[in-house]
Amino acid sequence: MLQFKLVMSIETNDIKVISFDVEGTMVTTGFSAAIWFEMIPQRYARRYGLDFDEATKRIRQEYDSVGDRQLEWYDVQYWFTRFDLGRADIAMEELQDRVIYYPETKEVLNRLARDYKLSVASGSPRPFLKHLLRDIEHHFSDVFSSTSDFKQVKTADFYKHICRRMGVEPRQIVHVGDNRQFDFLEPAGAGICAFHLDREGKSNDPASLRDLAQLADLLNGR
Ligand SMILES: [Mg+2]
Repeated sequence: MLQFKLVMSIETNDIKVISFDVEGTMVTTGFSAAIWFEMIPQRYARRYGLDFDEATKRIRQEYDSVGDRQLEWYDVQYWFTRFDLGRADIAMEELQDRVIYYPETKEVLNRLARDYKLSVASGSPRPFLKHLLRDIEHHFSDVFSSTSDFKQVKTADFYKHICRRMGVEPRQIVHVGDNRQFDFLEPAGAGICAFHLDREGKSNDPASLRDLAQLADLLNGR
């Protein structure tokens, strides 16, 4: 019943753009985790003559001392400079093979690209997006990073901004992502038709999607 209602609400709208979150939605979080919790502690351990566990402990304390409300927290070069580890961009290139797309991602993008403009609305900073989107970037007409472009997390205001930038009304966009707050409640607050992607089935909400293929089925079935 709920799925039926969703399809009907999509049908009555004039959907032009499908907007995607990146990490946890199209790409696993493995690349970022490898940067923050493997590469940085490894280099820190080498630089200061510590073992990996001690380096990890110190680095976590350092991360916590800044906290995720400060923009520096998201800035990988800030940490490389703070720890005297050299250039982050070169180090990140070494981990390119840790970028893993979910199994259905590329097929879904191919399917949806036939009927819609596709865009990215991510909280990941641009230096990460450069790697995370490398194989799929050609599908997207616009890529927005809330932290790099707007210095904020993904709020309803951020979503209103990106609608204006793309020259579409919020009701003409469908957004999908795995964070209930930033990918569902905030875009919905901006008037966007949003879908929460719950890959692990943790949410009780029957409107949550289990993978991106379900979204493509809903949209192609209009
Ligand atoms: Mg995400």
